[in-house]
Amino acid sequence: MIKKFIRKILGVKDERDPTQPDILGPDDHGIDIKLLSPNAIRVTQTLQEAGYKAFVVGGAVRDLLLGVKPKDFDIATDATPEEVKKLFRRAFIIGRRFQIVHVMFGQELLEVTTFRGNAAVSAPKDEHGRVLRDNNFGPQHEDAERRDFTINAMYYDPATQAVLDYHGGIADIRDKVLRIIGQPEARYREDPVRMLRVVRFAAKLQFTIEPATRAPIPVMAPLIDNVPAARVFDEMLKLLLSGHALACLKELRSSGLHHGLLPLLDVVLEQPIGMKFVTLALESTDARVKAGKGVSPGFLFASLLWHQVLEKWTAYRTAGEAPIPALHLAADDVLDNQTENLALQRRIATDMRDIWAMQPRFERRNGKNPYKLLEHPRFRAGFDFLLLRCESGELDAELGNWWATFYGGDVAERERLVNAAREPAAGGAAAKKRPRRRAPRKTGDEAGDADSGTPSGAAGGAGED
Ligand code: ATP
Ligand code: MG
Repeated sequence: MIKKFIRKILGVKDERDPTQPDILGPDDHGIDIKLLSPNAIRVTQTLQEAGYKAFVVGGAVRDLLLGVKPKDFDIATDATPEEVKKLFRRAFIIGRRFQIVHVMFGQELLEVTTFRGNAAVSAPKDEHGRVLRDNNFGPQHEDAERRDFTINAMYYDPATQAVLDYHGGIADIRDKVLRIIGQPEARYREDPVRMLRVVRFAAKLQFTIEPATRAPIPVMAPLIDNVPAARVFDEMLKLLLSGHALACLKELRSSGLHHGLLPLLDVVLEQPIGMKFVTLALESTDARVKAGKGVSPGFLFASLLWHQVLEKWTAYRTAGEAPIPALHLAADDVLDNQTENLALQRRIATDMRDIWAMQPRFERRNGKNPYKLLEHPRFRAGFDFLLLRCESGELDAELGNWWATFYGGDVAERERLVNAAREPAAGGAAAKKRPRRRAPRKTGDEAGDADSGTPSGAAGGAGED
């Protein structure tokens, strides 16, 4: 008190003691306890009854303070992972780089982490300064210091309903400011993924990025290249599935962060023609996420990379390749490139290829073709993709409308549509061209997928050329 007074008359800035949190009671922070998961309360209570400290932490406290129901709950404790595991029936220690305990109650998964000590000095790092492993435990104030943003570094005790704030997170929540804890350059060097997190949280929460937090990012962005691709991919997926993907991409672009941040984003954000398509795709993804509907990562990445595929597809055709094999070659090129850089999981890559390979088939509306396509297990995704292509102006809206009616129509309606579609197909480009044989390179299910049904492939060629 006296010290504080002396500092005040000497005009010394009242610096906070980083080991002492501000403690706020329920009247100060206004958290509605009903937004808390009963299982989060159960976990903190069990730990506390066993003599440990336990708090809800991180994103959940941030969301609670914003009056938003958290989608999941992280718990921080001074019990070691082994000690935590002993207290719960379904608990599993996972992770190497960063050990945590997964505690399961029915479908709900809670992540319990032990307070991390200030590892910046001692943790093993790669040659660029990236922390490779961090399992040094320590006191709570050090745990707070090594979290990423002030708004993500608060602790909530459901028993006392107190919020512990070590870094001015409450004030930043009120001012809607995203501020990294500590020295920004050092924090990005330890973990370059934090730069992506800045963008994601700023867009998702509609917070402004504090200038010192933003400043080093364009310069340091290339450090992302040294992060294992799978981890970048996870964070990227979180960004795209945040329900604010479009805002995130705009944020990346406006702050010049997309250069070198991710090859995928370079591609997506620097193709003006594709932007309309990407914008529509992300708008619909964001709407789905906000409505609580599922989003398929395959569809999303297929959309993001479509215009790159289109470009290569055209190039291969111009070079004399037949349409369907040209499409497969284009897909191969794009996927090879992105799998290397992005660690696209095989399942996602397969979905993307399916969706792309279906596209020429939508242009064949004669005979059995439309019926066969309808039976494709991924028809719905392929059809939605077609609608995006129409909506973006790449294809005539008539094609999308035809398929919408065909899809929703009864037997008679479908027959009528197929009969009506036959005329222009037979008398159009197909009549002028000699049917081509499929190129020899593509065999097996890939080619079969895109090309089944028509021995000549003539109608497919008619639609695309
Ligand atoms: P979301 O709502 O998207 O889950 P979150 O803040 O809960 O947001 P998580 O990735 O679940 O994000 O991380 C939980 C907490 O762990 C964060 O709030 C933060 O305190 C800490 N954290 C996560 N990633 C990092 C990181 N790369 N560096 C420092 N702290 C991190
Ligand atoms: Mg979280």
